[in-house]
Amino acid sequence: MGEVFGARWGISRLSSGRWKAYLMSMTDTMTSMTEARSGATTPLEKIALETYVPPAKPSLVGLSRAEIAERLGEIGVAAAQRKMRTQQLWHWIYVRGAQTFDAMTSISREMRSQLDRHFTVARPEVVAEQISNDGTRKWLLRLPSGDAVEKAHEVECVYIPETDRGTLCVSSQVGCTLNCSFCHTGTQRLVRNLTAGEIAGQVMVARDRLNDWADRETPTGSRLVTNVVMMGMGEPLYNFEAVRDALLIVSDNEGIGISRRRITLSTSGVVPNIVRTGEEIGVMLAISLHAVRDELRNELVPLNRKYPIAELLQACRDYPGSSNARRITFEYVMLKGVNDSLDDARLLVKLLKGIPAKINLIPFNPWPGTRYECSDWDQIEKFSEYIFNAGYSSPVRTPRGRDILAACGQLKSETEKLSVRERQALRAMAMTD
Ligand code: SAH
Ligand code: SF4
Repeated sequence: MGEVFGARWGISRLSSGRWKAYLMSMTDTMTSMTEARSGATTPLEKIALETYVPPAKPSLVGLSRAEIAERLGEIGVAAAQRKMRTQQLWHWIYVRGAQTFDAMTSISREMRSQLDRHFTVARPEVVAEQISNDGTRKWLLRLPSGDAVEKAHEVECVYIPETDRGTLCVSSQVGCTLNCSFCHTGTQRLVRNLTAGEIAGQVMVARDRLNDWADRETPTGSRLVTNVVMMGMGEPLYNFEAVRDALLIVSDNEGIGISRRRITLSTSGVVPNIVRTGEEIGVMLAISLHAVRDELRNELVPLNRKYPIAELLQACRDYPGSSNARRITFEYVMLKGVNDSLDDARLLVKLLKGIPAKINLIPFNPWPGTRYECSDWDQIEKFSEYIFNAGYSSPVRTPRGRDILAACGQLKSETEKLSVRERQALRAMAMTD
């Protein structure tokens, strides 16, 4: 059964994707080996291990309506009934947040037990939950590694409540295929793409833990999780299909219903998939720019060697649906003495001319062993002021460096409390409007 579903569940799609990713990374590995010999730096990508094996009893979470109907056909549900059953299941899973088939009381008992024999509605398993004083919550999620010897895979998901919204920071990979030199996630050896179910499942876990499904009584009917940012672990555009399928589920009006304008996908600049993001997903875009000259960006974001700044910005100019009302966010991590001069600020403003943009300055969030330091607050202020005077909305909301800026990408898999800086950074990251 697992294999039947494995083959039809997009695992074949995964395999060809995996093969392409493998070929791509082999090419890059070879390029980087040549570069290493000629004295160049960090390898551009790692080879993804991708040992995902679907459970024998698969979850319906993460499937499209058409895929659910197909699964129902495979277990003998009559063709005439499939559409109606799919609608019922969709409602129970994505509006009511049902965690078992038994809870789906509008479906006949017999049908429920038939479903239960073949499927689950499981989401990622929560192994730890931390709640900070200010309401920020961090969940450590365990995902199957498909390999008994291999340690179970883990990702984190963080919820940041604010007065006017609640933002969930979602991961797209275990670790990251790329190696940005200032990012802790990039140092992680193990990489696996998450499935669409594991990505959409993070939003479901948050709604479960916050008791935020449609049954929760609220005076205004408003939900706690109102925004999603793809800014957790991983490079979402290196796992395009799964991220797309998951975000289409998360934004579905008859389900979780988080509007595409409240979903932001952050990428380090996988140029060919930027236009696809606009066309096939239609969410808001954030670009991890971090440097305004190719020489420095090659070092900070090695993917720049493949897709340099000019190409990246052209893709932003061509981004479908961007306008002054739907601006592209440019993330810029503030690294002391590296990219934080006023010359950099000037060039940044010049580069972004003509692109409907906003700039999000992120104070560098240090981690053990890093060679970088966060810019001094004075310098961040000067930089921010220059940008503000050039007409860009400034993310600095308090006069001194307390409630400043953002830094998600430091998420890592050990369970530990969020540091004050991490919390401030996350909250600033959530300021996507
Ligand atoms: N891979 C995607 C999304 C995840 S990272 C991307 O790179 O865009 C989310 C953001 O956090 C990115 O802008 C990333 O550059 C930034 N980031 C990573 N490590 C950081 C650190 N140590 N301090 C501050 N920001 C960091
Ligand atoms: Fe990956 Fe983003 Fe970190 Fe770069 S910054 S290593 S792309 S998670």
